[in-house]
Amino acid sequence: MAHDPHDHDHTHGHSHDHGHDHGHNHAPPQPDDKVHSYYQMLGIAIKELLIEKGVVGADEVRAAIEKRDSITPANGSKVIAKAWTDPEYKKRLLADGNKAIEELGFQMTTTHLVTVENKPGLHNVIVCTLCSCYPRDLLGLPPSWYKSREYRSRVVREPRAVLAEFGTILPNETEIRVHDSTADMRYLVLPMRPAGTEGMSADQLEKLITRDSMVGVAVANDPPRH
Ligand code: FE
Repeated sequence: MAHDPHDHDHTHGHSHDHGHDHGHNHAPPQPDDKVHSYYQMLGIAIKELLIEKGVVGADEVRAAIEKRDSITPANGSKVIAKAWTDPEYKKRLLADGNKAIEELGFQMTTTHLVTVENKPGLHNVIVCTLCSCYPRDLLGLPPSWYKSREYRSRVVREPRAVLAEFGTILPNETEIRVHDSTADMRYLVLPMRPAGTEGMSADQLEKLITRDSMVGVAVANDPPRH
């Protein structure tokens, strides 16, 4: 299947001096000398052909990209906060992720969503060892480290060490389960609800649920102290 053709970093060559005085003396834009990769060329060629043959319109392509870009991890946080505050919803989420997120207005159109629950003594983390499969329909685009060869190869071999590099130190007795995503199966980690959040509403809880905690390289944030 086609994977993210934009798997490059945007390190631009221009020098943009943020200390300038807002008089318009920016450096002139540099030519984009980045050479497209084979798959980027292929992607552009297919898109141009589809438009030329009238299969899709350029505006449809644009709208699809806009829609994809509007998906953020905040959607996943809503799902997790609901599961934390509604035990019946949590059961439904664990039983059938696709149906459960639809209740909140989200949709995984072509892939199965499997939710894996963190518990005392058990921590889950997700990866796609092959490429970059990720619950994009719920969380948006994956972070660049998720797609890196280093993360993909190391997290399966030495998950505890990789988690520690993310600042996540788990007790030695905690089992770490690594789930390898596939083209048609995507995982969502249900983090443990932090202690001291008993009185918090779902809205407040959402702010504690980060993208990384739903991938499993982190745990949910502790509540703010007053
Ligand atoms: Fe993949």
